Amino acid sequence: PALVLDRVSKPVTEFLNGPLGLLIDGEWSNAQSGKTFDVFDPATGQVIAKVAEGAAADVDRAAVAARRAFESGPWAKMKPADRTQLLLKLADLMEQHADELSEIESLDNGKPVSVASVADIPGSIAMFRYMAGWATKLNGTHINLSAPGDYHSYTTREPVGVVGQIIPWNFPLLMAAWKLAPALTAGCTIILKTAEQTPLSAIRLGQLIQEAGFPKGVVNIISGFGETAGAALAAHPDVDKIAFTGSTEVGRLIVKAATGNLKKVTLELGGKSPVIVFDDADLDVTVPGVASGIFFNQGQTCCAGSRLYVHEKMFDRVVEGIAGEAEKIKIGHGLDPATQMGPLVSEEQFHRVTGYIAAGREEGARVATGGERYGDRGYFVQPTVLADTNASMKVVQEEIFGPVLCAERFNDDDLDRIAKIANQSEYGLAASVWTRNVSLAHKMAARIKAGTVWVNCHNIFDAALPFGGYKQSGWGREMGEFVFQSYLETKAVTIKL
Ligand code: ADP
Repeated sequence: PALVLDRVSKPVTEFLNGPLGLLIDGEWSNAQSGKTFDVFDPATGQVIAKVAEGAAADVDRAAVAARRAFESGPWAKMKPADRTQLLLKLADLMEQHADELSEIESLDNGKPVSVASVADIPGSIAMFRYMAGWATKLNGTHINLSAPGDYHSYTTREPVGVVGQIIPWNFPLLMAAWKLAPALTAGCTIILKTAEQTPLSAIRLGQLIQEAGFPKGVVNIISGFGETAGAALAAHPDVDKIAFTGSTEVGRLIVKAATGNLKKVTLELGGKSPVIVFDDADLDVTVPGVASGIFFNQGQTCCAGSRLYVHEKMFDRVVEGIAGEAEKIKIGHGLDPATQMGPLVSEEQFHRVTGYIAAGREEGARVATGGERYGDRGYFVQPTVLADTNASMKVVQEEIFGPVLCAERFNDDDLDRIAKIANQSEYGLAASVWTRNVSLAHKMAARIKAGTVWVNCHNIFDAALPFGGYKQSGWGREMGEFVFQSYLETKAVTIKL
């Protein structure tokens, strides 16, 4: 893929060249150490920006600012309807700058700008708008007591306090929105630690947060690395809650780090989501649906449909169909408007994914399509289907986080046994079921141990739908009304009359 940096628009060029600092207490600043780190265009490997490298000392400064903003000042006294207005204003500003945000996201992450502009950016805006409406609707209840005596009891719901949020690189802006929007709605103050691979769109969002008029210290944004800035945030004694999205491996570290002050923890972790195709499935819907379920976002999606189980009557047609879909995908630089699939996010991710493909081959999987690097620069990998895989293979057990589908056949009509195969994973994030039989769809949905089950679709998200994992895919749920369980404390007040 050709260098396309000359395609970058003027506002984005200015943004990339401008100082890209840490947002702490309403000011953009350098890291206390003075250090910066390079940000790469994953399509070319070129450095596109230098960003301040936050670490423990910066997390400390942010925690002081967030605590002050939480305990006193305009935010602490703000009425819910005023929080709604601020969130809506931010959403409007994001909409006004949507093209710029899409371009930044594409350059930083590698994803096609054509995808960022219809998925990531509108999804982020929708999250702020949806959550904004909740600010005025978070109420407690009156409780009737059976205790002897005359009492009046009620509950109130109060923001949990200063929240640390650590996000990954696969949907940089969307993950920031999933985290910030409900926490702000609830009245918390925040220290957001972005992923070191993709700090840029959150910095632009931070500028818009400033422009919207959020009081200082309410949102603090730290660019930096996991082992330094992230670990300091997870362990910080004056942070009340940590919300993390990332790998299961790092999720375990977060839990350990949080034990010092027993901060509340929610985790959205890995997945190895099963896709079950029954012999009555409508192939015109199923084949493109399953292909997009795994190849969307270069396969770098925690709920990617990466384990395909197809009834043997349909197996060859489904696998050939998906291979055909994969071969049609136009791979290229994300900023090329015709691109449908970009590079993986980083060199590390490139080696990880190609390593898994090699392991699949060694374990005896048949490469039905793809399996190779694409081009000779950047971190592109062909969309790949490994057929005739089985449960003992590493590629079936472990999360690859790339465009690699493992396809297996089943020859069974017993739903419990089919569900057992689908549930044979340490993860339980999502699943999809493909059938024309409504009753079968509901029966399977009930048997699958996952936080999300899609029927005749995959990767459908909405700000109103709770999302999160069973088993080692996480703790708690994000989005929908359910997310407020993570950002609000409940207080029971009892008055003797
Ligand atoms: P990936 O392996 O896909 O990069 P990670 O789980 O490593 O996913 O990263 C997700 C987020 O967690 C990133 O923001 C990263 O900087 C952060 N992170 C990584 N290691 C740690 C750690 N030890 N403590 C806190 N945060 C971390």
